[in-house]
Amino acid sequence: MTTFSDLGLSQKVLSAVTDAGYTVPTPIQAGAIPFALQRRDICGIAQTGTGKTASFVLPMLTLLENGRARARMPRTLILEPTRELAAQVAENFEKYGKNHKLNVALLIGGVSFEEQNRKLERGADVLICTPGRLLDHCERGKLLMTGVEILVIDEADRMLDMGFIPDIERIAKMIPFTRQTLFFSATMPPEIQKLADRFLQNPERVEVSLPASTAKTVTQRLVAVHNKDYEKRSRLRDLIRAQEDLKNGIIFCNRKKDVADLFRSLERHGFSVGALHGDMDQRSRTNMLAGFKDNQITLLVASDVAARGLDIPDVSHVFNFDIPIHAEDYVHRIGRTGRAGRSGAAFTLVSKSDTKYLDAIEKLIGQKIEWLDGDLSSLPAMAESQDEGRGRRGSRDKDKDKDRGRERRGGRRSEAPAEPVKAREAEPAKAREIEEVIEPVRTEPLNSERKADRRPNPGNRNARPNPANDDQRERRRSHYRDHDDGPTPVGFGDEIPAFMLIVAAAKS
Ligand code: AMP
Repeated sequence: MTTFSDLGLSQKVLSAVTDAGYTVPTPIQAGAIPFALQRRDICGIAQTGTGKTASFVLPMLTLLENGRARARMPRTLILEPTRELAAQVAENFEKYGKNHKLNVALLIGGVSFEEQNRKLERGADVLICTPGRLLDHCERGKLLMTGVEILVIDEADRMLDMGFIPDIERIAKMIPFTRQTLFFSATMPPEIQKLADRFLQNPERVEVSLPASTAKTVTQRLVAVHNKDYEKRSRLRDLIRAQEDLKNGIIFCNRKKDVADLFRSLERHGFSVGALHGDMDQRSRTNMLAGFKDNQITLLVASDVAARGLDIPDVSHVFNFDIPIHAEDYVHRIGRTGRAGRSGAAFTLVSKSDTKYLDAIEKLIGQKIEWLDGDLSSLPAMAESQDEGRGRRGSRDKDKDKDRGRERRGGRRSEAPAEPVKAREAEPAKAREIEEVIEPVRTEPLNSERKADRRPNPGNRNARPNPANDDQRERRRSHYRDHDDGPTPVGFGDEIPAFMLIVAAAKS
């Protein structure tokens, strides 16, 4: 069996690894570290949870023992798609680099430039950045990339999802051709392979297969539902309440809008819940994650993009509120539970319109997943067909109406960029769409923040708070809140035309 001391790491590093309590290198570490120490380029295919971070941090620490950093000329550069991941890597340098006197600088948004400049002036041995912030520093002339010996591009597939590839290409051009490049991605679709071919020279490919063993310790079940959000929410609540052994759980939605909606719904129903999606500000995201890790929050509603790559501890339950559109996402999601031989449970809500995604998942994992309480054929047929009929009818027109409604009210369209979650064509339910007409996507999930920001139009900075508008909005919201979670209303019901929802301007 390979041990850490077989890999060629320095004594200082080995002693820190021992102190961290790790005895056996993980497959990605055993595969990548010896080549990284030989200054070879690496194309690592591994997801979070495999010990991937240490597979580049440990050899970097060893290699950095020779040489010194010069002001404004970092010696190594690590690119991460999100601030959390960048911060996680910095923590790894602290843990494994405790016997070194290296200067590690974290350049992420939300932190003052001055503070970061001071670190750069002192000379950084390791620079950990999100691409945007790094380019900002370069444009201010505060950074010279010509001294970079090692470039790490982490989570490349996620960088692609988030549209960072042009930034990375710009950055790579500033770094000498003679550098060593360590490239990591959880998946290797053709477009990522093309990128790897561009950035790497004669790389050693180290691939860690998806943890198939996870599936053995995870009880997976499918739950038949109609494709109606209120019914899915109600079924989810029952499911959560029925789990006697639930310690904590992650609930996955396909779209950030749904993350925000489901979070609010669960919160209203008294669950201990947090949310994680791409539009949340940094402080909220950090608080939310810390709360979940400390068991102050039991449930975390998340999108794939927000949750991927985060070192979230083992969870007892995973709930797929939406079936993932990309089969690999199912494996990523399920991999959050049942770690290290522990048992876990994973439930996936499935409606009739989801069967093609279910087929793809079952094909990928090579097994049929059992249904809990009967399959789709046991669902009462009428409600589903009613729902499907509505879903098909004029959805484009609905969208147009929705847009027109927003324009009429002074461009209240959410300014948040669409989350880059590939093709997210999951059918939005009508009730949810009406809510969206009334109110743009609210992305601040913390109670305190929601209360703090009561501007009637968060998109218009000039708008002054108007308590009367707030009251009206709250009344309307609670109306929809009620039928959000209850049975389909009579009369217009879900079909209320958007124009009837516009409230006359409050008299001042
Ligand atoms: P990562 O894939 O880098 O996010 O690491 C996932 C988790 O595995 C982290 O909590 C690490 O601290 C832990 N870890 C890293 N290397 C090892 C190892 N050799 N043995 C056990 N756990 C490890």
